[in-house]
Amino acid sequence: MNENDGFKGALRGESIAYFSMEIGLDERIPTYAGGLGTLAGDTVRSSADLGIPIVAVTLASRMGSFRQELDESGRQIEHPAGWNPSELCDLLPERAMVRVRGRPVAVAAWEHIVKSPTGGAVPVLFLDTDLEENSPEDRGITDVLYGGDDRYRLKQEIVLGIGGMRILDALGFRIRKYHMNEGHSSLLALELLERSGGDPEEVRKRCVFTTHTPVEAGHDQFSYDLVGELLGGKKVEILRRFGGRDGLNMTLFALNLSMYVNGVAKKHRETSRSMFPGYEIHSVTNGVHSYSWTCPSFRKLYDRYLPGWANEPEMLVRVGIIPDEKIVEAHAAVKRELIDYVNGSTGAAMDPEVLTLGFARRSTEYKRPTLLFSDLGRLRRIGSREEIQVVMAGKAHPRDLQGKRLIEEIFGIARALKGDIEVAYLANYDMSLASKIISGVDVWLNTPLRPLEASGTSGMKAAHNGVINFSVLDGWWIEGWIEGVTGWSIGPEPGEDLSPEEGRRRDTADLYSKLEYIITPTFYHRRDDWVRIMNNSIGMLAYYFNSHRMMRRYVTEAYL
Ligand SMILES: *Cc1c(COP(=O)(O)O)cnc(C)c1O
Repeated sequence: MNENDGFKGALRGESIAYFSMEIGLDERIPTYAGGLGTLAGDTVRSSADLGIPIVAVTLASRMGSFRQELDESGRQIEHPAGWNPSELCDLLPERAMVRVRGRPVAVAAWEHIVKSPTGGAVPVLFLDTDLEENSPEDRGITDVLYGGDDRYRLKQEIVLGIGGMRILDALGFRIRKYHMNEGHSSLLALELLERSGGDPEEVRKRCVFTTHTPVEAGHDQFSYDLVGELLGGKKVEILRRFGGRDGLNMTLFALNLSMYVNGVAKKHRETSRSMFPGYEIHSVTNGVHSYSWTCPSFRKLYDRYLPGWANEPEMLVRVGIIPDEKIVEAHAAVKRELIDYVNGSTGAAMDPEVLTLGFARRSTEYKRPTLLFSDLGRLRRIGSREEIQVVMAGKAHPRDLQGKRLIEEIFGIARALKGDIEVAYLANYDMSLASKIISGVDVWLNTPLRPLEASGTSGMKAAHNGVINFSVLDGWWIEGWIEGVTGWSIGPEPGEDLSPEEGRRRDTADLYSKLEYIITPTFYHRRDDWVRIMNNSIGMLAYYFNSHRMMRRYVTEAYL
């Protein structure tokens, strides 16, 4: 008997179906674009470890996202980064049919089984319409992740939501609950509604919905003309009842048909509640898969001093029994590896002894990757007293021109700062590069525009490696932050309501003054204090902000 047997017993013989447009399992399967996908991957991995009976459903996205090349001025060049499902998955013989514009489209599933050393396993189904029996146009529906126009996206969502439901039936799964990771899959509720003779209560009992988007514009919306054209007029009537009058809002549709709805951090629950007043919205704060996001040198330490930690990350609370010098050594080893990689791949001249800040995430405006460079004179002065260097990375969505411009801007800034502060922007941020950066820097910087960071997870990955968070108080950090104990905040406290200009001014002022008067001196002169915060990052953050805790919450609050 172990503690997980209870979950198995409680859910015996049935599965939870977890639907997500993107799932980041590893870098060989490039069907993820960012945090939503890596969260889905961590969900699958923790479920496998804990023996939670889940089956995950996503799209094959055969053309992947893309491989990012950056030219010498920081212009993003996008290369196809397709993958071949047959190399990593089994094609299942069953087929499902969906109707798109009255035409049948066949859907197949590639199965990849994620196995845990605990003996647990989670099947992941990659839906694929690239089948001989489909027309050339329909064969491309599952090619490009977040590609194409509204019409293409809606077709993908028909395949994901409706096709996914039907393939689970064809494969003989008995589904107890349907968990929609973001609204992309919410057409599954339409299918359930039709099967239940139009009884929304029956549907609600079966559906769990996790929203990730703290802005109205971030929710998928489709015109009913388009919906009618692709799905037929009869479906429009039903969709209108639950998905909004003027257009089909996938979030609203999922909200109206789910018994359990949650945001991904406590603050995000509040934001979602004010966006959708009248709905009961819970929160389950995100977590990351501890083992996957811990670098080898720290894994070895935890294995030695805290055996069993990987499947019981709560044990990290006892990080204090690991001698400080071991923690320092483990970090120095990964830091050296990262600095070698940075120097080798970009020609930078970074030094492993120098305080290193890291910033890597999707390049998009609200993440404000250039906030650190708001005042170059000030930054230079800080760097001239005690050295700092900065490692950055991130892809911009091919249509996010602003996100691309930000990368070019950083390249310009890096040239301007050359000789004073080394700044390197690494190309092609993916899960494997993320592992290198989040563990190899000293400080993990995060400067999103509040309240747009629903949760954020990269800071949790950093904490697992004793890397210290320095972040705007948004998303998960509000819950993890104790000033000077678990890391440092940037800018106003959560309750303060400021204009955008005032918010930005406060953020930059605080960023620079803490960097100059607290972070740099602590790093160079108060090593004991520094190492204590490294310890606390592990013992007070990683022990809690992991996906094992997150999945236990989903099981007891949403799935049972
Ligand atoms: C963890 C991760 C993210 C999410 O990062 P945030 O800073 O939370 O937005 C995005 N991309 C990759 C490759 C990741 O590993």
